[in-house]
Amino acid sequence: MSDLPNCPKCSCEYTYEDGFLLVCPECAYEWSPSADSAPQEGRVWKDANGNVLQDGDTVTVIKDLKLKGTSSVIKGGTKVKNIRLVDGDHDIDCKVEGIGPMQLKSQFVRKA
Ligand SMILES: [Zn+2]
Repeated sequence: MSDLPNCPKCSCEYTYEDGFLLVCPECAYEWSPSADSAPQEGRVWKDANGNVLQDGDTVTVIKDLKLKGTSSVIKGGTKVKNIRLVDGDHDIDCKVEGIGPMQLKSQFVRKA
């Protein structure tokens, strides 16, 4: 009967509500569910906190991210300027200072 979303971190389906937050029993991740009144027209990109992202935003990476196929790591806390939103699994196109152009997942960033 539950229509709560799966955990965005580990995809666990046994999430539950705790006040205004949703909580995952598997990985203990807490997040605020997207507002019911959010426009459903087209795609909306949201950061880890559920804030809507827009082209040109500056975001902060919230955890260390390994770059596929390289030994580079983007450290949590890295600021990324002037993002571009794209469709796909990695839905943010951006250029990280000192690393270069790359794609990130919106769930691993926070609007700065
Ligand atoms: Zn989880």
